[in-house]
Amino acid sequence: MAETTIPKVQHPSTRETAPSYVLRGLGLFELHAGEILASYQGGGRYVVPSGTEANGLYEVRVGTRPERNRCECRGFASHGHCSHVVAAQRAASRSDLCDGCGERVWRRDLVEVGDDSLAFFEGDELCRPCARDHGEL
Ligand SMILES: [Zn+2]
Ligand SMILES: [Zn+2]
Repeated sequence: MAETTIPKVQHPSTRETAPSYVLRGLGLFELHAGEILASYQGGGRYVVPSGTEANGLYEVRVGTRPERNRCECRGFASHGHCSHVVAAQRAASRSDLCDGCGERVWRRDLVEVGDDSLAFFEGDELCRPCARDHGEL
């Protein structure tokens, strides 16, 4: 009888679906994308809301390499990964810094500077308010 009670988590045999922490992280991103982006503190640091605790917030650091990722939650401490890092990584990969004001904005909201700009280099990317200020829109 005892053999039948082995916890499922010890057998991640199927790779067809993403691990649950990844799915939870993507869910967090969907729910809080704007908040996570606005929380950007420089140096790859974001604040990601907890998916389970109301008002819970975790400081996450997204490194240039996966082994540099950090989160202050208990899950990360014991497993080396968590949903908060997944959510922050998604926000990081979908956003970039404006070359005008330095704010972090969604890539889809960045405007590439043309070759006739006096204030910026061709190929610089500006957020919409900056682009408007400099006549790029
Ligand atoms: Zn975490
Ligand atoms: Zn800007």
